[in-house]
Amino acid sequence: MAFAALGLTAIGQRAAAARGYVTPTPVQTLAIPAVLRGQDVWACAQTGSGKTAAFVLPIVERCVTATTGAPLQALILAPTRELAAQIGAVCVACAQFAPHRLRIVTAVGGVSINPQMMALRGGADILVATPGRLLDLVEHNAVRLHALTTLVLDEADRLFDLGFAEELSRILALLPAQRQNLLFSATFPDAVHALADTLLHDPVRIDVASTQATTPRIGQRAICVDKARRTQLLRHLIATERWSRVLVFAATRYTTEHVAEKLRRLDITSATLHGELTQAARTQALKDFKAKRVRVLIATDLAARGIDIADLPAVVNFDLPRSTDDYLHRIGRTGRAGAAGVAVSFVTADSAAHFALIEKRHGLALAREVVPGFEPAEVAAPPAPGSGGVKGKRKSKKDRLREAAAQPAAAVPAPPAPAPTPAPTGGFVWPKGPRRG
Ligand code: AMP
Repeated sequence: MAFAALGLTAIGQRAAAARGYVTPTPVQTLAIPAVLRGQDVWACAQTGSGKTAAFVLPIVERCVTATTGAPLQALILAPTRELAAQIGAVCVACAQFAPHRLRIVTAVGGVSINPQMMALRGGADILVATPGRLLDLVEHNAVRLHALTTLVLDEADRLFDLGFAEELSRILALLPAQRQNLLFSATFPDAVHALADTLLHDPVRIDVASTQATTPRIGQRAICVDKARRTQLLRHLIATERWSRVLVFAATRYTTEHVAEKLRRLDITSATLHGELTQAARTQALKDFKAKRVRVLIATDLAARGIDIADLPAVVNFDLPRSTDDYLHRIGRTGRAGAAGVAVSFVTADSAAHFALIEKRHGLALAREVVPGFEPAEVAAPPAPGSGGVKGKRKSKKDRLREAAAQPAAAVPAPPAPAPTPAPTGGFVWPKGPRRG
């Protein structure tokens, strides 16, 4: 199967070839014709399966032939600034053979809004944005969404999460009722199925997450270790496994900085990526890691979703992810586009029960390894009665702020007979409580 057979013109075919794509991936084979036809798509595709090009290539072609004259043709929303920037770059690359220059704007928070407002003057063909910055731009009257043709939610389940609920609801209310909706993610927890259903109209459903051809070649390992010895074990593995680069996930900003500092003292080049850094520092850290200028990037879950790092041989869960779905997103940073990779999880006495839950959720049964010299001395405590022994996903500061903003003011007494809440455009209604405990 070639890109031409999917209905792409020379614009898309040349762009795919320029990016080194010879054969479309399964998600591209299924999604590209549907997007070109203007249909809604709900795609559950393994991370690293080529889903960005699956929506960008056909959107570019639709923008080239668009005759609506709308101030904005396509809006692509992503949950993190890094992912939005990455998608924006793919859009620019995929539009390089268009007969006229497409106006492609990426707008994320943490940097000055003025250049983004300037770039949006006179409209845009494609806007890639994070939800918060998009609303800032709307408030500044810098963008008008009322006539767009296509909406893409990348990492859609994260955008449906209660942390983004209020912002997404406000954005949806600004969109035309008649539009194409494309939802992409590697995971779609049951809780978001009903929400996705209300947004989509007769969608083409694509599920390539479990097919043999697309399952990335990621070797998964679980190593038991005492909590206090994890940095030493990490250093040992970097040396003995000869990892040219490794992405390490930690639970807190403090841990990322602490581990990075220790590694630097051992002459291992390390950078950190977390939400408390300036956007310039976040961008630089990722750039240095991608350019192989630093060997170790220690990140919070900010880097878990969608970030594409070519030839990354290893991911380490220094701390386990709270959410079982985030385990998949994290390990998917390696083993991309058919390459091999390894994902190592450090299992401590504290986290043993949680790792068992992650395994159960994903149908895994990994052997517990012990590295000579790092034999754990701590023993897992039995879970307290009724505790379940397992923590849920901890919300980020930003999520907590967003949720607080989404809640009605606590001091306001409930009206005696509340009127039903009007649904935002498309009949989209969020459930009352948080979906992740
Ligand atoms: P994504 O899942 O969109 O993050 O893409 C994962 C990686 O696969 C990226 O590095 C893409 O450049 C690459 N990729 C996308 N489509 C193809 C293709 N048809 N053939 C080879 N590599 C691809």
